[in-house]
Amino acid sequence: MEKLTVEVPSESLCIRNAQCPAGHSLMAPEHPMGDMPSVKLLAETGDAVGEVYLNARYGNFEVETVLPVHDGEVYDMRCPTCNISLRAEEERCIFCGAPMFVLNLPNGGQVHSCARRACHNHKLQIVDISAQLAELFELDLRPRF
Ligand SMILES: [Zn+2]
Ligand SMILES: [Zn+2]
Repeated sequence: MEKLTVEVPSESLCIRNAQCPAGHSLMAPEHPMGDMPSVKLLAETGDAVGEVYLNARYGNFEVETVLPVHDGEVYDMRCPTCNISLRAEEERCIFCGAPMFVLNLPNGGQVHSCARRACHNHKLQIVDISAQLAELFELDLRPRF
């Protein structure tokens, strides 16, 4: 499978359907940020655990939480439904060395983000490129005979 990493202008994309690896939706329509449902995660740091809401606009780093947040601190992000860790195996932030966490998108896409507060490293990974391109550009992917 080909992997392609694209760069997109900040906030031009919006995450509409993020999931944990077990398939639970991470979207929080009951907690909109901007005009969109936010992404709800469970964040763990030291001995504090709490819900964190992320702005679903890609490139917007707004966060709402009752946890005390300190810039530079590293959080362990989990699914609020099944508590599975969203940490990416063996992947480290190229800027600060902290673990990365992953949101799964439909069609095999992923958003990878640095788990360190105020480190704004993230990338969008589109794995199923043909399905994604079909959606983006309305390509005609019907087989030709
Ligand atoms: Zn889950
Ligand atoms: Zn980082």
